[in-house]
Amino acid sequence: MDGKKLAVGWFSFTCCEDSTILFTELLNDHLDEWKKLVDFKYVRQLKTKNSIEGLDVAFVEGAISSAKQEAEVKKIRDNAKYVVAIGACACTGLPSASRNDFKDEMITERIQWYMKNFDYSQKVRKLEEVIKIDDAVPGCPMNAETFMAMLTKYLKLFSIVPA
Ligand code: SF4
Repeated sequence: MDGKKLAVGWFSFTCCEDSTILFTELLNDHLDEWKKLVDFKYVRQLKTKNSIEGLDVAFVEGAISSAKQEAEVKKIRDNAKYVVAIGACACTGLPSASRNDFKDEMITERIQWYMKNFDYSQKVRKLEEVIKIDDAVPGCPMNAETFMAMLTKYLKLFSIVPA
């Protein structure tokens, strides 16, 4: 209302990034309106200069499948007033966490090779198992209407639009 914008970051971890695609589709229709209200400080899919410092809201898609990802998402948590889990993989772990239920006989040589040569943790975890989350937008991919309502909720909470 006074020129202040909602500082937002959009992050992806282990997932297929379909919610990111949906988000960019929403930008087709809403970019002009949102850029008056939202400062997109971190959206790697849209720009190369990004900052995670001083975020009002971090939207996080995907499950956490390595120690490196765990450290990254904890850093995001430390830099964001609110964190919203985006999509089923972030909210429940699945389908990205399917390998948690593999029986020994399903762990093929190829899978063993990946586990040995990449920095994967034994279990894939939903976001809430790694950091505190404040809200969630379920769906595979995320439900677009719920995401829009969530964005409006935070625009109101930060008095950027009237409550
Ligand atoms: S929740 Fe579904 S759409 Fe989203 S990243 Fe996971 S598999 Fe892809």
